[in-house]
Amino acid sequence: MELSDNDMEYEGDIRVYLSHHYDGTGRSEIGTDALAVQAHSPTMLLGTSYSSPRFEFTAIHEFGHALGLMHAHQHPEANIPWDKEKTYELYRQKFGWSRAQVDLNVFPLPRDASRTYAAYDRHSVMHYEISNEYTLGDWKQTENPHISAADIAFIRRIYP
Ligand SMILES: [Zn+2]
Repeated sequence: MELSDNDMEYEGDIRVYLSHHYDGTGRSEIGTDALAVQAHSPTMLLGTSYSSPRFEFTAIHEFGHALGLMHAHQHPEANIPWDKEKTYELYRQKFGWSRAQVDLNVFPLPRDASRTYAAYDRHSVMHYEISNEYTLGDWKQTENPHISAADIAFIRRIYP
């Protein structure tokens, strides 16, 4: 079948929607989940402008999801001492997230036999910044704007 110019515009498996109207957030389908998205819909949202200091982090982080990576801070062995009630409240205030959205994107996920795991890496680009106010005691992690050595090793392992 011959593709029209209009169809070719939507040919990519990863379709990025760039908009600065999303307060610096981003989202992406995880790996091949993108193939189930309707042809004319984006599979990734980058809610930052090119000039934002967070653009590089957001783009690398969301492309990590597109390559199939989950969040490092949700690793089953992350053992982050979350102040859960405070975290629900802070994400509700900051992004309007429901408790279910926080469970899905922030707190640890149970180990899943169908997934491949590396060791927990708090320096991964797939780790959220977590300030002290979200945790009990003295635990925090800054945002890592670059791909960590462990990120590179893991990507090499899953894409040999
Ligand atoms: Zn993410």
